[in-house]
Amino acid sequence: MRRLRNVKIVATLGPSSSDYDTIRKLFEAGVDVFRLNMSHGTHEEQRARYDIIRKIEDDLGRPIAVLADLQGPKLRVGVFANGSEDLTEGETFRLDLDQAEGDAKRVCLPHPEIFAALKPGAHLLVNDGKIRLRVIDCGADFANCEVTVGGIISNRKGVNVPDVVLPLAALSEKDKKDLEFACQIGADWLALSFVQRADDVIEARALAQGRAQILSKIEKPSAVDAFDEILEVSDGIMVARGDLGVELPVQNVPPIQKKLVRKCRAAAKPVIVATQMLESMIESPMPTRAEVSDVATAIYEGADAVMLSAESAAGRYPVEAVQTMNAVAEQVESDKTYLEVIGSSRNLTHTRQTIADGIVSAAREIAETTDISAICCYSQSGASVRLVARERPQVPIIALSPITKTLRKICLTWGVHAARCEEVGRFKMAVVNAARAARDMGFADETNQIIVIAGVPFNVQGTTNILRVAPCDERLIFRTDPE
Ligand code: PEP
Repeated sequence: MRRLRNVKIVATLGPSSSDYDTIRKLFEAGVDVFRLNMSHGTHEEQRARYDIIRKIEDDLGRPIAVLADLQGPKLRVGVFANGSEDLTEGETFRLDLDQAEGDAKRVCLPHPEIFAALKPGAHLLVNDGKIRLRVIDCGADFANCEVTVGGIISNRKGVNVPDVVLPLAALSEKDKKDLEFACQIGADWLALSFVQRADDVIEARALAQGRAQILSKIEKPSAVDAFDEILEVSDGIMVARGDLGVELPVQNVPPIQKKLVRKCRAAAKPVIVATQMLESMIESPMPTRAEVSDVATAIYEGADAVMLSAESAAGRYPVEAVQTMNAVAEQVESDKTYLEVIGSSRNLTHTRQTIADGIVSAAREIAETTDISAICCYSQSGASVRLVARERPQVPIIALSPITKTLRKICLTWGVHAARCEEVGRFKMAVVNAARAARDMGFADETNQIIVIAGVPFNVQGTTNILRVAPCDERLIFRTDPE
């Protein structure tokens, strides 16, 4: 069940994947991180899924990360007397704060803050952008719009407002409750939806109080514009292509994806490419060629992870979807071009400034120059492991830590295999334990060599200062290494 690829697979759990057997099959097929989507389901349902994940972790002795995805300030229209209306291009349609049921001329939009921010000329996109409205005139409680793209509008459809930075709280009351719930059950990552600015992330971090890592979903033009500041205060990023492709012209999404993936690698922070990766597998056991190509592109770009949404949460073929992603990843990563692309982008992405940067860079060069089976990295917080991963070495990265939280959260990072170790106090035992982990995980045998990266004093964050090329044969280590 050891992964034979570097890119990680995130799978969303839902009605199609809520029992022990299915979740275990998903894990065995290749899932590294399970996503609990807080937009759907009750806390009881999410807790039951969480408990199953932890049971599988115990049963198989492998760390698994859990990502709780908060709904964010999702905007929706009210309800219609007839359930829906057919809007025609060129006609006018009014949005207002009146709670009365809507008709062909108007409907409630129960968000005063939108009206406060709207300006004539701004666009409102309804139902994933299928219906488009352009504001003609507006006030504190209404907007008269021209229908520029018509279609069926029905009860509680979602609304996107791409042109304006909305004065919305980053976290709704529901988000705050969900955040607290997710932290209490033990989620490793929290994903924030509709992030608009760095302050949104800072607010969530204050509420999480170090209990979970913060991952920002980039799905608004304002988040793309403020990306550098958002990345700076986030622990990871999701390229949330669903809403991003509604708020921006769809053809803008691929170049944004490329830019964001590259910037995340430079910052040594994990990035997930998400949404519609194998969409047709919701209904079909076979993906389309274009979907396979899309997954492959994200992997060639060097993304840390690719994600399944409805394919694994509500589709008919959740396990097959994971198997497909796994197979695509193994194929891409065995391609010589992949190694060339990943290697040649290295110097484009980042500069090296610290001792740790130099050590991980040297480790990668040694691994490429000589016969090295794995890079084993002792880490308290996971930061040094992420630096190793940023180098995209061609050998497995083994993260060694006594801290469960660290082992779980690092599951999202490219190329990392996490292994629990005792707290190390002596240099010789650090090397012996690393060699044991490499052998136990099947990456090396006694005839091989590994690289060990650690920091002295041991068990202190931010002290990476040792690189040891070591044999895997314990007798040799005992003979040669200092205490
Ligand atoms: C997306 O929009 O791509 C996305 C991942 O967000 P959601 O949680 O709404 O699916």
